Amino acid sequence: MMEVVRDRQWDRPTPAGEGEFGPWFEACAQGRLLIQRCDACGHRQWYPRAVCTKCAATPAWEEVSHRGTVYTFTIIRQYHAKPFGGELPYCVAMVDLDDAPVRMFGTLTGIAVDDVRVDLPVEAYAVEYTPGRAVPYWRPI
Ligand SMILES: [Zn+2]
Repeated sequence: MMEVVRDRQWDRPTPAGEGEFGPWFEACAQGRLLIQRCDACGHRQWYPRAVCTKCAATPAWEEVSHRGTVYTFTIIRQYHAKPFGGELPYCVAMVDLDDAPVRMFGTLTGIAVDDVRVDLPVEAYAVEYTPGRAVPYWRPI
């Protein structure tokens, strides 16, 4: 289970949580990290879609561990719009999950940006931006 941190001062664009993403944001608020798994062909995918990208069947949800390693990352050093402009520099990483063949994208916190490296072990934690909906962030283990 991911740690869930409540942020009632959330000042950034709010994920709508609609369509295929709705159950995903709701599960995050419960500390559960989900990907999609196709019961017809076994394919696993993230981000959430209406159909399996291999066979077009309707995918199901699968809970996965919230741990992984950094596959690649970028450091944002220039950004002039609020609120992100006030948080520079920050790191956005693509994370290979430990127990699923998917990569998940997110903000990496809890480490100086110049110390981030490929293969860094990380875990997700959820930030609940409104009751019942959260988005995962990543931090070093
Ligand atoms: Zn499929």
